[in-house]
Amino acid sequence: MNLTILGSGTSVPHPKRSSAGFWLETSSGSLLLDCSASAIHRIAQEDLDWANLDAIWISHFHLDHCGGLPAFLFGTKHAPDTQAREKPLRIFGAPGLRKLIEAFDSADDYKLFKQPFPLDILEVEQLEKFEILPGIEAAALSTPHTDDSHAIHLRARAGTTFVYTSDTGYTSVLATFARRVDLLLMECSFVKDKPVEIHLELAEAIQIVRRAEPKKTILTHLYPVWDNVSFDEEVKKFSPGFEIVEAFDGMRFDISDKLKSKN
Ligand SMILES: [Zn+2]
Ligand SMILES: [Zn+2]
Repeated sequence: MNLTILGSGTSVPHPKRSSAGFWLETSSGSLLLDCSASAIHRIAQEDLDWANLDAIWISHFHLDHCGGLPAFLFGTKHAPDTQAREKPLRIFGAPGLRKLIEAFDSADDYKLFKQPFPLDILEVEQLEKFEILPGIEAAALSTPHTDDSHAIHLRARAGTTFVYTSDTGYTSVLATFARRVDLLLMECSFVKDKPVEIHLELAEAIQIVRRAEPKKTILTHLYPVWDNVSFDEEVKKFSPGFEIVEAFDGMRFDISDKLKSKN
């Protein structure tokens, strides 16, 4: 599994950090984790095959995670690149996902559900196992962020495991959910003194890493307060004893291999 970070930022416009979007390339297809408005253009910028994207996971309905979905569907409906496409695009998310897309669709005469190819909307319950791509088993965990927010756990046939927390407040259950995964992609909105309960600050993220013992951790969803500090210095203060790296837009990571950067 190869991960490309499209957006390591938040809802706050930022010159270097797009809003949430993560592209996972696997031997059985491609998966987009969250779809912010800026992420859909970042996919093209990273030269990823958006016209043949197989599946999308929407972690929750905040616009920095799903605001690009209607725009992407508007694009696939009209783009020359997708007119001959026959395979379905499957969109997974919490109950309410279909209603959300219908709400966008009803704002004008978009007809987003009428695509050149089949469009499947699949609403999943937490901890119910489902196949997100052929041979890749997924399960979602409800998180303390919004009523519809979920972390997702993926397991490939070869045994590779990956967790994307998306936005979340602190809960020790996340550490159990991400226990010993190959890669933990976790939000870490704030450095310290977080202003809200529904996000993580560094001390909490490190607490989850210590309990989960993932092989590697990438911290993402970084608010602009992170611009003013050295990520590595802040992490070092906790001597976490685990590899924890800062996400940046354009970072590529082979989950079974080593961290690669295009810069
Ligand atoms: Zn967010
Ligand atoms: Zn959110």
